[in-house]
Parts: sequence; structure tokens; C-alpha cells
Amino acid sequence: MTPTIGNRDYTQRLEKFIPPKAEWTPVDTALHAPKTFFSDYKKAHELVFPAIQHTFKHHYENNFLYHRVCEVNGVTPDAVKSEKDLKKIPLLPDAFFKDYPEGKGFLNWLKTIFTGSLPKPVFKNDTPSHDEIIEEFNKKGTSIMFTSGTSGRFSFIPRDTRSWNRVKYSAMKSFTELMDYDADDSVILLIPDPRQTNLTIASLFGIAYDLYNPANIHVALDMKITTQFLRMQRDETIGISEKIKAKALSTISPLVQRTSDVRIIHLLEQIEKSGKRANIAGPPFWLDRIMERMKKEGKAVHLPESQILTGGGWKAEENKRTPEETFRKKVEEVLGIPEQRYHDVYAMSECSSVFLSCEGHYKHIPPVIVPFVLDEDLNSIGYNEVGRFAFIDPLPESYPGFIITGDRVKILEHCPVCNREGPVLDIEVTRLPGVEGRGCAAVMADLMHQDGEEHSAFPVG
Ligand SMILES: [Zn+2]
Repeated sequence: MTPTIGNRDYTQRLEKFIPPKAEWTPVDTALHAPKTFFSDYKKAHELVFPAIQHTFKHHYENNFLYHRVCEVNGVTPDAVKSEKDLKKIPLLPDAFFKDYPEGKGFLNWLKTIFTGSLPKPVFKNDTPSHDEIIEEFNKKGTSIMFTSGTSGRFSFIPRDTRSWNRVKYSAMKSFTELMDYDADDSVILLIPDPRQTNLTIASLFGIAYDLYNPANIHVALDMKITTQFLRMQRDETIGISEKIKAKALSTISPLVQRTSDVRIIHLLEQIEKSGKRANIAGPPFWLDRIMERMKKEGKAVHLPESQILTGGGWKAEENKRTPEETFRKKVEEVLGIPEQRYHDVYAMSECSSVFLSCEGHYKHIPPVIVPFVLDEDLNSIGYNEVGRFAFIDPLPESYPGFIITGDRVKILEHCPVCNREGPVLDIEVTRLPGVEGRGCAAVMADLMHQDGEEHSAFPVG
């Protein structure tokens, strides 16, 4: 086996997302001043409170809907003087971002959830589709990420360039501190081409293009995934013949899947032969399908220096749900990647930070966010208690990142396995009962289903 010498310096790659110091707000200080996220968590986390004060004032003053929410709750920025006042900041349920009207009202809705003034792209008619809107805003530097739940409604999160750069910076920082980074590694992305979609999971895994040489990145599916594509898949078209047509057009055919999987298996075999390393990233169900094919064909590879990064949720295919631990063993058996090189990420469209697991499989919470676990009455409970996940995320400028999720989590004060500092999410993240299932893995699993089977809860999106 070739020893891994390589190019581990990522500072330059991160630097391009840091604005000039003269333009820094307290938010930039909280994000960019700390040299590390997890080696001096306390020092980095101390910068978060001024960042939150700054952001809260910004959204209070510049976001129409959020201002109303604050008025109703009787809270003004002056009320948030010290850390114990954080609980006064009104949190929004994540459903807030899918509460849009169809048709003409959609653009107006976008304006009301957007903080500041939304760019004004020109549309061909006055009822542009979601996809036309996403595309035109992309051109104007505002990226509207989307994901969808089992109900078929989308969540839309608008990010200006600055807010999206912060997501990238924060994710890259977590990635480089929690995983084994070498700029010369290959990358296999088990997702639709991130350059052709604003689907959250693809956009987030697409950050690989900022960390690695694009020539070494292999994308499993060269397809444009639009909201229309997803909607057609969900039978929202009228008329039975229309439905049949839509279904035929909008699922990814077994042949396309097969061709893609065969290509990826071939790629894994080549990587094994070359003695190089690869980072394999995607939703668990996708990786599982590839491993199942390999097992059926009596194939296995041995890639002890490669890494896995799964994300997008665990229960995408309910009947094939594999607890993470069993899944890790399978990865070791079929791909020869040891368990400590297996990582999973909890991420969502509404949050600027990603929660990436260490070699011990606990998900580390970056210092640029304040996490909460809430009881049924939405009161904050402490460490080691199971409850609803909520957070104050000061990074987005374009929408208020003060969110209550529908996910059930437990937070531990320290990682039980590694020496990195700061709190961690316990391994299992699930959906709360009665909360709509959502997540990017579901959206994609749906595309690959022929029987239209419904899926239930899973966490990430
Ligand atoms: Zn750890």
C-alpha cells in the first residue's frame, strides 16, 4: 500500500470564503477569528453571543415577518443583554419555511421571509414556476435551497452569497477537523450532480468542489433534479394518463440506476488497484444498494485508507432500515473501510452548520451555534435528556436562523470517545412522533422507487 503523503493544507481553500477584515461584523468574528472549532471550543464559543445580538437586531429590523413575531412576543433587541436572555429570542418552527402559497403569491411570500431586500429578477410572466424562480435568483447570487417532506411540500431557504459562503466555511472547517483531509484524494458523490440542482443534500455534498480537485470528483448521477421533477414524482399532476406519463418521466429508471451503480463499482475497483484513497459520500440507502449489488456479484474491495461520509437520513427506505452500527460493519466487510473511517452528518436546509461525526460516531456541534433540547412545553432542558432539537444560528443574514426542528435528539456535554472539545449529538437522531417525515434521502429514495411506497420519519434534509 502506498503511504499517504499528500496535500493536507486547507487554509488557502478556506481563505477564499473569508471577507476582508474591514467588512467583518461580530458574526464574521465568531466564524473566522477562531483558529479551530474543536481544539479551543470555549474561546470560540464566547464569540457567539455578540454575533447573536448582532444578527437578532438585523432580523428584527429587516425581516417583516420576524419583526411581527417579535412584536407578538414583546421582545426587542434591547432585551437580549446577556447569555441568559437567549431564551427570549423567539424561535420559528421549521414549518415556517414551507408555509408558502402556490402561484402568484409565492414571490411575495419569499419577500416576507427574506431579511432585507430580495434581488428583483425579471420573469417572462407573472406566475413563474418554483424552478424558474430558483434559476433566476441563482443568477442574481441568491441561492434558494430546497428539500421536501413526505407531504410533498417543499421547504425553501434563501441564502445570499455571504450567507452561503458562511455555510461552506463552517462545513469545511468541521470536515477538515473531524475527517482525514488530503486535497489529492478522489471523491465519489452518490447524489445528483450538485452543479445542476439546489436540492439541499446535493448542495451540501457539493462543497467537495471547494475542497478537492474537480478532476478527481466523480458524480454518480448526471441529472438535473428540479422541484418540478420531484413534484411530478409525487403525483400532483391531474388526470390518470397524465399521472402515468409523469411517473414514467420522473422516476430514475432501474436501468439508469444499474448503469450508474456498475460504473461506481468499477471506479471502486480502480481506486483499490491504484492504491489511492477515496471519500465516498451520499445517503445510506444509495451506498447500501451498491454494496448489495457487490455482494450479489461476489465482489468486495479493500480500501483501508478511504473514508465514508453518509448523510440525508437513515430511514429513507423503511423496509431496509439499517441501524448505523450494522451498516458500518457492512461497509467494513464489503469496502474494507474500517469503522473509525466511517462518518455520518446531520444537516438541514435551515441550519448553516453541519454536525459531523468523529471516529467515535458522535456528531460534534460547532461553536458557531447555540443548540437547545426542548421538552414538550418548549422549555430548554439540559444535557443527557432526550427532546426536541432547536438552535440559534447567527450565520444567515438572509433569513432568521432561530429554529425549532421536528427532530428528537440527546446532547452530551463532551464526546465520550475523542478529545475534541464542545458538546455532541448522541448517535441516533430520529423524527418526533406525529411530525412529518422529511429529508433529502427520502426525496431521492422516492426517485428510485417504482412502487410509490410511502416512507416515514427520518431526520436529515
Ligand atoms: Zn468525538
